Amino acid sequence: MKRIVLLGATGSIGRQTLDVLSKHPDEFSLVGICAGHNAKELKEIAEAFPSVEVIGLSENKEDITFLCDHVFYGEDNMVQCLQHCDYDLLVNAVVGFRGLKPTLESLRQGKDVALANKESLVAGGVLVKKMLEKTNTKLYPIDSEHSAIFQCLQAGKKEEVRRLIITASGGSFRDRTREQLQDVSVEQALSHPNWNMGKRITIDSATMVNKGFEVIEAHYLFDLPYEKIDTVLHAQSLIHSMVEYNDNAIMAQLGSADMRLPIQYALMYPNRPYLKEEHPLDMTKTLTLDFKEMDYERYPMLKLAYQVGKREGNLGACFNGADEKAVELFLDKKISFLQIEESIEKAVEAATFVADPTLEDLERTDQEAREFVVRYWGLENQ
Ligand code: NDP
Ligand code: MG
Repeated sequence: MKRIVLLGATGSIGRQTLDVLSKHPDEFSLVGICAGHNAKELKEIAEAFPSVEVIGLSENKEDITFLCDHVFYGEDNMVQCLQHCDYDLLVNAVVGFRGLKPTLESLRQGKDVALANKESLVAGGVLVKKMLEKTNTKLYPIDSEHSAIFQCLQAGKKEEVRRLIITASGGSFRDRTREQLQDVSVEQALSHPNWNMGKRITIDSATMVNKGFEVIEAHYLFDLPYEKIDTVLHAQSLIHSMVEYNDNAIMAQLGSADMRLPIQYALMYPNRPYLKEEHPLDMTKTLTLDFKEMDYERYPMLKLAYQVGKREGNLGACFNGADEKAVELFLDKKISFLQIEESIEKAVEAATFVADPTLEDLERTDQEAREFVVRYWGLENQ
């Protein structure tokens, strides 16, 4: 029985993780759950999974202490949960920079992490890498592109990989030119053509910040230089990503847009038990595969991500922090869609570079990037 702690239990990935866990009651025991605001849903989960021993709630003080032995509130609740229960695997599906600390804590304790929280690697890849080496622990990717690459890597040797090819759908606005992005609305940006996800990652897909994050994520997950990480536009999202080997063979992983597949693979690797899908991929009906070369002028955030990733240090934390704040302001209708990109570019330009950052340096960089974006748009008093 694998004992699981799930962060971000009430979110898009969190709920799909619960679905996977409920299909394998003899393999998994859910012992911990955390969320931001949604106490009601945490209660429902605790009732559905009586094995829960610890609960964490960040942004809501509602009394749910009657639900289990330990309930933690406030900023450090996720780390406290990890310190007060006996678990085997952390599933980190919280959104944002706040996911970095619990990732580090779990690895520090010698426990592997199934990782959806890509911010852990974008902002803190340097520290996560050191901790993985020190404690001999592992990360199992949940992000669909990285799960695909992880699966394709089973076919060959790492030394014989020529390049990783990450596919990009192009997000909600892929058929628009940059000029046509001037006045797009929040509602338009939130309707992703292929995937149903949380708000932040849906906006990040439209700006291609998400693909930039995924390039950095791939660099740390698979320990390959940026020169060996490519992206390609692939509108259908049927191929989730590919690995090209030195003998010219390209391995691709295909599937329908259902995150339960990568979640289950991360939790049960290397096993592939039956996974009920409402829409399994029917090759005879759905298989049209289009590819286009990536357009870095159309998607400047992807280009910036490569630069930020290569320089390393604290710049990933700045890139992520500025994006988190800018997306929040866009969703609140305080800035426009294109101003998300401008926020990030200016914040990265203004950042004080720290080559070998500590966690405290990254926390400071994250905070400064957010404050920079608010100041840049003159929104201090709102
Ligand atoms: P959602 O917005 O759907 O869920 C976010 C989760 O984080 C919720 O459980 C939310 O709790 C919790 N949360 C929000 N604020 C806080 C806080 N202050 N403290 C603690 N918890 C908080 O996001 P997704 O599920 O879409 O994404 C989660 C992560 O997975 C992200 O890093 C994303 O990039 C990554 N990912 C997501 C994919 C997807 O298909 N959705 C695909 C690949 C990666 P509450 O609702 O109670 O506030
Ligand atoms: Mg992805």
